[in-house]
Amino acid sequence: MSARIKPLVAGNWKMNGLKSNQAEFYKMIAGIPDDLAESVDAMICAPATLIAALADKAGKGAMAVGGQDCHAEASGAHTGDISAEMLADAGASAVIVGHSERRADHGETDSDVRAKAQAAWRAGLVAIICVGETETQRKAGDAVSVVERQLEGSVPDGATAENTVIAYEPVWAIGTGLTPTAGDVADMHKAMRQALVGRLADAGGSMRLLYGGSVKPANAGELMAVSNVDGALVGGASLKADDFLGILDAYSRS
Ligand code: PEP
Repeated sequence: MSARIKPLVAGNWKMNGLKSNQAEFYKMIAGIPDDLAESVDAMICAPATLIAALADKAGKGAMAVGGQDCHAEASGAHTGDISAEMLADAGASAVIVGHSERRADHGETDSDVRAKAQAAWRAGLVAIICVGETETQRKAGDAVSVVERQLEGSVPDGATAENTVIAYEPVWAIGTGLTPTAGDVADMHKAMRQALVGRLADAGGSMRLLYGGSVKPANAGELMAVSNVDGALVGGASLKADDFLGILDAYSRS
């Protein structure tokens, strides 16, 4: 981890969560130590249907609430879509854009992701921009060049440490229980840092770079210790309060 950057641990509930699952969120809030916010920022990116209820419950406490995607436009004839303004209105403070599941399932391109990040900023949200290579690309030795290309195409000019977070999520590590070696994560995060500093100068040096892909309480400490890892984007393990609290604990102690 870069010593001067406060880590963010963001949970991504994906398409999981009914009203009955709010209890798990309440358990998380209740389990967060009073002084956590001094060392770690915590967030759950919930399905749109739950954002308002969770944000009301979270209030101004240690847990923020985010969305998982937004449309590039503020409003209009886009049936089924949700705008960044709507997420902000519901109480979100951030939104994930460019998750590999959106890129794969909905054919989202880097320029789509860039437009969504700009929409997030327009609504006053932090854009959590996801990048990451597939297994085939890693095996071909192309992981770093793929991620550098995604960063170049997906991160808009004007990105700052305040309005943008980058999440490196190797596609093959998502939901599989597999993780890259600490050395591979270090190499990728160093390459991302260099690319962002090259393009954004100081803003790139202080932007949070999260690692995501099968983060669990058992491996969180090791991943957090990697240079240039400034937090985690957590899928499956964010659905259970005990697991998510365990990850927050590992990050608060590093
Ligand atoms: C994710 O999809 O953002 C993710 C990191 O999932 P998991 O932790 O389940 O691998």
